[in-house]
Amino acid sequence: MKVEVDDSRCYAVGNCARHAPTVFDQNDDDGRVVLLAPDPPEREHAQVREAALRCPAAVIVLHENKSAHEE
Ligand code: SF4
Repeated sequence: MKVEVDDSRCYAVGNCARHAPTVFDQNDDDGRVVLLAPDPPEREHAQVREAALRCPAAVIVLHENKSAHEE
């Protein structure tokens, strides 16, 4: 799985960091999403999918069949 975020559209709500805290964090200054793990391990994929579903700004894009090392 490859994860991408567009932090320019982030509402800084923090659902992502609550659902998948090892993959998403929030910037200390403005609360916007910080992507910690663009290629999360399989055991965290369910949490990442939940985080993407719960993002009110639809900022989190998942590429299920790619890794972060691929374009
Ligand atoms: S859930 Fe979405 S809007 Fe909220 S902090 Fe995460 S990326 Fe930003």
